[in-house]
Amino acid sequence: MRQHLIIDADDTLWENNIFFEEAFDDFCAFLEHSSLTPEGVRGILDEIELANARTHGYGSLNFARNLQQCYRRLAEREVLDGDLEVVKGFALRILEQPVDPLPGVAETLEYLASRHDLALFTKGHPEEQKLKIDRSGLGVWFGHTAIVKEKDVASYRSLVGQLGWPAERTWMVGNSPKSDINPALEAGLNAVFVPHERTWTLERQPLREEGPGRLEVVREFAALRSLF
Ligand SMILES: [Mg+2]
Repeated sequence: MRQHLIIDADDTLWENNIFFEEAFDDFCAFLEHSSLTPEGVRGILDEIELANARTHGYGSLNFARNLQQCYRRLAEREVLDGDLEVVKGFALRILEQPVDPLPGVAETLEYLASRHDLALFTKGHPEEQKLKIDRSGLGVWFGHTAIVKEKDVASYRSLVGQLGWPAERTWMVGNSPKSDINPALEAGLNAVFVPHERTWTLERQPLREEGPGRLEVVREFAALRSLF
C-alpha cells in the first residue's frame, strides 16, 4: 500500500556534521587552551549552542556566532577582532562544502519516489538548507519540502495536517533521535531510524519506546527498499 515518507536531510541524505566537527577541531587548535581538553571545550560549546538555538536556530552563521562566544569565554589571551574573524572563518567554511549524497541515497530515493509520497523535512537556516538541497540534486524526488526552525511534535503535527497524510501510513526517516524519531513517534507517526555514527551530540537521545506508531531501525539508507 502507498505510504507517506517524511525524510530528514542532514546526515541522512548527505554528510553534514563532519564539517562542523572539522571546524571545531580547527577551533580547538587555534584556542590552544592550557588545561581544557577538546571534550571540555565541547562541553562549553554545547551549553552555548543549546542556549542560543532556542532564539537563533541552527546553521553555519549561528555556529560562527557560537564559536566566537566560546572563544570570548575561553581565550587565555586578549581577544582581538582579527582572532574573532579567524574563528568565524572556521564556521563559514562549512558553507563551501560539497553536498554529496551518502552511498545508495540517490538510487534509493528514486525507487521510493516511484512507489510512495516523499516529503523532505529539515531544520535550520532556510536559505542554507535550500542551497544544500539544490546542490545535492535530490530535491527532484520530493513532492514537498519543508524547512523549519525546530523539528518538534508541533511541527510534525502541522506538516502532516498540511499534507493531509494519515498518521498510520506516515513514516519519519532520519538519523536524529531528538529531531526525527522521538517527536514523530510522539505525534503518532511511524519512524525509521537510520543511525549515523557522527551524529551531533545534541541530537542524541534514547529512542522512545512506547506509542501507537511502529519504529524500525535500519543500518543504512539503502535498506529502506526492504521496508517500502
Ligand atoms: Mg539529520
